Amino acid sequence: MSPANLHTLKGQVPADEVGIILPHEHIFTDLRGPNVVGYATADPEVVSSLIIPHLEAAYQAGVSTIVECSTVGVGRNMQILKCIAEETPIHIIPPTGVYRDEYIPTEFRTIDAHELAEHWINEMRTGIEGTGIQAGFIKIALSDEGPTVLEERNLVAAAMASEKTGAIVACHTPNGESFIKEMEILEGAGLDPGRFIWVHANLEGDRAIHLEAVRRGVFVEFDAVGADWQSQDELLMNTLHLIEQGFVDHILLSHDAGWFDPGQKDGVPEGGFRGYTDLTHRFLPALQTRGLADDDIHQMTVVNPTRAFAIT
Ligand SMILES: [Zn+2]
Repeated sequence: MSPANLHTLKGQVPADEVGIILPHEHIFTDLRGPNVVGYATADPEVVSSLIIPHLEAAYQAGVSTIVECSTVGVGRNMQILKCIAEETPIHIIPPTGVYRDEYIPTEFRTIDAHELAEHWINEMRTGIEGTGIQAGFIKIALSDEGPTVLEERNLVAAAMASEKTGAIVACHTPNGESFIKEMEILEGAGLDPGRFIWVHANLEGDRAIHLEAVRRGVFVEFDAVGADWQSQDELLMNTLHLIEQGFVDHILLSHDAGWFDPGQKDGVPEGGFRGYTDLTHRFLPALQTRGLADDDIHQMTVVNPTRAFAIT
């Protein structure tokens, strides 16, 4: 078997050499959308002065790798990510893909699923925007009432690109109902459920749907660790529930935190900057207090995300 690697900003890294991976975070994000003047631009030094201390704190807490989930349309800026990567020992995995319908840039609105898949495959094989940096996964998203027509096309393109590259597809999914809808489209287009992450599964309160998802073989991602709008107790209990049911190998945990916001003068997003250490400092210790074994913690924070993001 050929070796499995993570595609990071500094090149391929052997998947078996990394520790804790945070599968869903944000470093540089512009939610004003791609048509705003000044979209996704900032002075890399200013970005770095905000971000690097938070990455350093995560590194000190044992985090080896951060998955950057900001796609084109919501701020992906390879030059800035490159500058950040040079200043931190943390591996950063960049995405290909697009965000929700309203954020999809003009050039990606009129092409069909095949053309879009080709573009994404190219970003994973050849590199992103002439940088030679290979994307490490496919990030897409559904609108609250979605999938819209364009989002359906994205799902099909993601399934095609995953089949060709082996990359995982991670989809921002507003609730369990949309999860069921997207799975129908993805599986119809040939996606292996083992190559799918249900992003924001914590937004669905019904544990029966979490259970259905892991039984189908997908990764269920609870990515609101440390978020003040999410009951951390509920997150903890839902995590333990899946473990008790025997599915510790299908759980991913992350903060969905950050980020530098170029729409703000100091780059701090509205509501403040959330760092990347609540998982290691609070959530995992709380699970241990409830009797969870170290092996299970290792499985969720190292083994699972490695299996998800490794590309053979
Ligand atoms: Zn996110």
